[in-house]
Amino acid sequence: MISELTAYCLSCPKPRCETGCPCGNHIRDYIKALKDGDLSKAAGILYSVNPLPELTSRLCDCDRQCQGHCVRGLRGDPVEIQQIERYISDNSKRPGVYPPLKEKKVAVIGAGPAALSLVYELRLHGYGATVYEKEDKIGGAVYTGIPDYRFDKKYLDAIFEEWKTFGTDFRFNTEIGKDVSLQQLCEEYDVVALANGAPVENTAGFEESERIIGGLTLLHRLNVEKDSTLPGKRAYVWGGGNVAMDCARSLIRLIDDVTVLYRRSLKEMPANAREIEEAQAEGVKFAYLHNINSVAEKEDKLLLAVCEMELGETGSDGRASVKEVENSLGEVETDMLIMAIGQKTDLSIAGIDGYPEEHRINEKLFVCGDAFTGPKTVVKAVRDGKDTAAQVLQSLEGGTADESH
Ligand code: SF4
Ligand code: SF4
Repeated sequence: MISELTAYCLSCPKPRCETGCPCGNHIRDYIKALKDGDLSKAAGILYSVNPLPELTSRLCDCDRQCQGHCVRGLRGDPVEIQQIERYISDNSKRPGVYPPLKEKKVAVIGAGPAALSLVYELRLHGYGATVYEKEDKIGGAVYTGIPDYRFDKKYLDAIFEEWKTFGTDFRFNTEIGKDVSLQQLCEEYDVVALANGAPVENTAGFEESERIIGGLTLLHRLNVEKDSTLPGKRAYVWGGGNVAMDCARSLIRLIDDVTVLYRRSLKEMPANAREIEEAQAEGVKFAYLHNINSVAEKEDKLLLAVCEMELGETGSDGRASVKEVENSLGEVETDMLIMAIGQKTDLSIAGIDGYPEEHRINEKLFVCGDAFTGPKTVVKAVRDGKDTAAQVLQSLEGGTADESH
């Protein structure tokens, strides 16, 4: 019962939970409004900060974020903030009041969470947007990368319909630099925002093949192309983040022998703890403190040269350093290797190498979301879309940007 969940919240004068929410949700206040029986007020508080709770209330790593900071969690279970947020999202409408459209036009490249958040925020200020997306649907990495068992894509379909209703023009299957040039867009629009994510996979120098597959490539095949053809029944998934977990959990639904190989220990794994637990429960094996030195393709299998690793000093980023254990090299045989060891942005179409320091590149061009921050979480992308919107509005209107959240 939702009333039991909200009653458990102490309405703290200094809500610790909010320090753990990357988009700055006013958690205490929306829970208080619900406690008072005012769902519409709760929705107003939620949506004024977070335009996409359908996504965050299902995809956030709440154990590390909001709930991980809740004071109740110091002596027991934290308040179930994510469930409360989902309740508000599922039982209320986005209270968007959309003013008449102004003349200036904005093009957004990409249709992921950052782009959707940016478009929504601009529309609240009277600016419409045309969204150019190379896939056939919205959602970015949520659409291409997150398996259906973890997130029901009906929520993306509903967002798409709503964004169309308030005037967003979507151009799917359109790749910038191929179907239309960035220069064309810059000539046609008053502002162009690049929100094309972080799609370039780290392959550690290994050449992709039928058996050596990038994690994002595998997930795209399974989720978008609906192609579950695999080159065998044994897989190693290399990496410890959420892409690695999505790959491993998707594969264990198709084959019996899946091992995640991660160079640090469980404690350092960046993936959501719940995802790791689910993967373990589903039969995925874990080889912690191991790394791959080389890969050889031999006839119809792969031979991985695997070494043991040991943890060293903790660095300034709070993570333990790691080094190879001497004389620990061994060989394992498998049918496929899935590489989920990181990804980065590609802003070469804008002549940018690496990550820009500011959202604003020039008078017209902005960079937003993972393309700006590097690969982060859905909630951080939503927040970055809002942050970018404040700067885009400044450019469209002149004067001081509204930085309030
Ligand atoms: S947006 Fe995510 S981190 Fe923030 S309160 Fe909601 S579930 Fe928690
Ligand atoms: S820290 Fe926990 S108990 Fe306090 S306001 Fe936030 S959710 Fe409620």
